[in-house]
Amino acid sequence: MRDRHPLAEAYIEAAQQCGYRRNDDFNGSAQEGAGYYQTTMCKGVRSSTAAGYLRSARRRANLKVVSEALATRILFDGRRAIGLEYLLGNDKRSACAKIEVIIASGAFNSPQLLQLSGIGPASLLQSLGVAVIADAPGIGDALNDHFAGRIILRCNKPITLNDAVRTWRGKCSAGLRYAFTRRGYLAVPAISAGCFVCAHPASETPDSQCSIALYSADIIGGELHPFPGVTGVCTLLRPESRGFVRIKSANPREAPAIHPNYLAAPKDRETIVAGVRVLRRIFQAPAMARYIAEEIEPGTQCENDDDLLDFIRRRGSTTYHPVGTCRMGQDENAVVDERLRLHGFGGLRVVDASIMPAVVSGNTNAATIMIGEKGAEMILEDAKAGT
Ligand SMILES: Cc1cc2nc3c(=O)[nH]c(=O)nc-3n(C[C@H](O)[C@H](O)[C@H](O)COP(=O)(O)OP(=O)(O)OC[C@H]3O[C@@H](n4cnc5c(N)ncnc54)[C@H](O)[C@@H]3O)c2cc1C
Repeated sequence: MRDRHPLAEAYIEAAQQCGYRRNDDFNGSAQEGAGYYQTTMCKGVRSSTAAGYLRSARRRANLKVVSEALATRILFDGRRAIGLEYLLGNDKRSACAKIEVIIASGAFNSPQLLQLSGIGPASLLQSLGVAVIADAPGIGDALNDHFAGRIILRCNKPITLNDAVRTWRGKCSAGLRYAFTRRGYLAVPAISAGCFVCAHPASETPDSQCSIALYSADIIGGELHPFPGVTGVCTLLRPESRGFVRIKSANPREAPAIHPNYLAAPKDRETIVAGVRVLRRIFQAPAMARYIAEEIEPGTQCENDDDLLDFIRRRGSTTYHPVGTCRMGQDENAVVDERLRLHGFGGLRVVDASIMPAVVSGNTNAATIMIGEKGAEMILEDAKAGT
């Protein structure tokens, strides 16, 4: 990261004042501690997998990309996947697989595609008029996601993102600075610093990720507050609660039902309350307190566990890290094996975040990229071996 914000610096110092060690490598030997997050950025620009991997491969003769296509059904010959049906606009098309079909539609859409293709909970598929190829209750089950509680604080100095982009002048100045120097607010992730902590007394490894976001708003993605504000974010890192993803109809254009079941497990509720208390302590430590005018949400009057939990439930949200809906394993409900092949089928693999048996105790993008790299290696190995 090329730019460091004074509030992020203060937050890291405040966490140290609360007894957490400085950690300059969360991916190193120990995750616990406070520091800057590692990011997939280069020279102020965030790099997607499309930019990092696909762009350089676009000219390969053996690669064809069809964009704006909606995969609607996997085609089978018995228990072997042989191709894919997809929509391009209203045109129904198909593609044949010489060796195998690889599904990488993410934790919500990979199970959707399998269910639409007739692999999933048989009673659900039958009730929706989808011809059942295999009764596989595990597909779409075991959804696991990071839920976060958020507190909002008003700052006593106009140094937050809210202040930088409130006026057109501020927006233009941030835009021009970024365009010419790749520096400034737009070159810094809005959540750039945080602290991994063991908030629950029974935890031996971090169970909560307490971060500072350099902006505040009533809702995520909503208009920023018209005053200097920051958000404290406490992410529950190892949630026990499990939800599910199930198609609602045989129409591939209809989004599936997503039930995350956040905070269903008692341990999750205890941990997130403890984690939000840690977050509050960091904001109250001297290095951070010198920037804070008041906690606006939930406000210091919200103190006992029940009130805090009620607030977290009402105002918390996902951190967009769903996994587990096509989970890897060997038990009867597991969906893929250790080489990401769908149990009971040939020529069919799932290579995305959905295969994680449980959500990793950190952000999921890098872990999913690693699944892609490992998956690619195994696909090549198996193709060479002819298995
Ligand atoms: C708003 C947001 C912010 C995030 N921020 C971070 C972050 O800061 N750090 C971090 O580590 N992680 C972050 N994540 C999580 C991270 O992006 C995901 O964990 C990761 O992208 C998962 O990769 P995936 O390949 O499993 O699924 P995806 O990235 O969702 O890829 C699935 C692809 O399949 C396509 N697709 C789905 N269904 C079909 C279909 N039927 N036909 C054709 N195409 C289809 C989708 O359009 C998509 O392009 C964020 C996620 C979101 C949504």
